[in-house]
Amino acid sequence: MIRGHIQDTVKNEGVAFAKVLINELDRETGTDVTGDFSFGDIPPGTYSLQVWIQDYPGREIDSIVIAPDGITDISILFPPECNFNHNDMTCPVCNKKDEVIPIVYGLPREEIFKKAEEGKVKLGGCVVSTCDPQWYCKRDKKSF
Ligand SMILES: [Zn+2]
Repeated sequence: MIRGHIQDTVKNEGVAFAKVLINELDRETGTDVTGDFSFGDIPPGTYSLQVWIQDYPGREIDSIVIAPDGITDISILFPPECNFNHNDMTCPVCNKKDEVIPIVYGLPREEIFKKAEEGKVKLGGCVVSTCDPQWYCKRDKKSF
């Protein structure tokens, strides 16, 4: 059996109604309202899962080993690499704020483009998830 939980690390709650697929068995299920899911009657072996959550890119999780008569618990975090604090504009490298500028996403208007050339904002591009960094330290060239 595989028992799993998908947690949204931004909202700090389980992800409801995500789709989970076992590639090798072509079996699919979904998470319940608390973010839990399970597959029963899985033959022992090594499997990979695919997970789809609305508004996020799909994600594959490899090498899940199922032992005979065993229960495998897995915990999946979304988004996967969201480990910065969006509200704090203190650079995590130099611990200062004086070289930190905001990151602007999307297609920039002309005045934003000019600000970027002057080093007052950083252009973040057009792909936006809920986990994008909001600040950029010019001293360390780091987004956070
Ligand atoms: Zn810095």
